[in-house]
Formats: sequence, C-alpha cells, structure tokens
Amino acid sequence: MVHNYDDDCIFCKIIKGDVPSYTVYEDDDVKAFLDISQGTPGHTLVVPKTHVPDIYAYDADLAAAIFSKIPKIAKAVKDSNPEIKGLNILINNGKVAYQSVFHSHIHLVPRYTDHDDFGMTFKDNSSKYDEKAYTDIQNSIKSQF
Ligand code: 5GP
Ligand code: ZN
Repeated sequence: MVHNYDDDCIFCKIIKGDVPSYTVYEDDDVKAFLDISQGTPGHTLVVPKTHVPDIYAYDADLAAAIFSKIPKIAKAVKDSNPEIKGLNILINNGKVAYQSVFHSHIHLVPRYTDHDDFGMTFKDNSSKYDEKAYTDIQNSIKSQF
C-alpha cells in the first residue's frame, strides 16, 4: 500500500506515531485507536494508513484493504466487554454529515443500552413520497454509474 501523509493532519500524525494514541490494532493498511471522545466506552476509530479525506477518495483496492479489516476489529471491540450488546459502524463524510477530521475514518461505537450516550435518527418520510418521487431519485443515482 502507498502511504501518503499530510503534515497538517492529526490522524497522519497519529499514524506516524508523532502524536500518541491508544492503539488497539494495526497492520500495514490500517490503524485502529480509541476515539479521544469515547462517545461510549470502547469507541474506536479505524483509519487508512494513507491520507484520504473521505469515502469518495477511495479506489477499489484501498476499499478492499480497509473494509476487509472491519469485521475482525469490530469483533475484537465487541468481545472486549460482555456489557457490549451492539455496535454502530459509521463514516461521516462532509461537514454537514458531522465530519470534523478530514482523514477518512470509520467509527466503531459500542452500544450498551438504548439510552446510552449515542443516538441516531432516521425520520420516516415515506408518506411524502409517491412512485414518481422515488423513481426520480432512483434514476438520478443510477445515472451516475
Ligand atoms: P468525525 O466527526 O470527523 O467523524 O470524527 C472525528 C473524531 O476524531 C471525533 O470523534 C474526535 O473525538 C476524534 N478525534 C479528534 N482528534 C483526536 C485525537 O487527537 N485523538 C483521538 N484519539 N481522537 C481524536
Ligand atoms: Zn491524514
């Protein structure tokens, strides 16, 4: 894997060891370390060991290298604590989607109860959609491939 770093990027500094982190796993492709915020206990970030700002910057090889590691890291996080009942896995892309560090990363957020310190809401807007509204969106996405 090619390792490109951005000197101003906090996660590149962590990857290089210039900034300390609580690393739980690493190999040639990824580094996984505790998110400083610990949204819930065990909250872990998985980062590619090359500077890619967001999901749109991945090619298929990078995606394979990174995402193929997620199940085993997720399992290790889950198995680390019998209180962990579930795990949310998410990637924020863009400021509006709550991305604050522009070196792509995957959040593994252990879940303990349905009223722990993590929340996510998907509003059900289906009553506002008819056949045409769905197919217009479907076609605008399909036409991008
Ligand atoms: P984002 O909002 O971009 O999806 O997530 C960035 C995450 O990086 C945040 O949850 C934040 O707590 C974490 N973070 C920011 N700076 C550092 C740092 O220096 N060390 C660690 N371990 N986590 C960081
Ligand atoms: Zn970086």
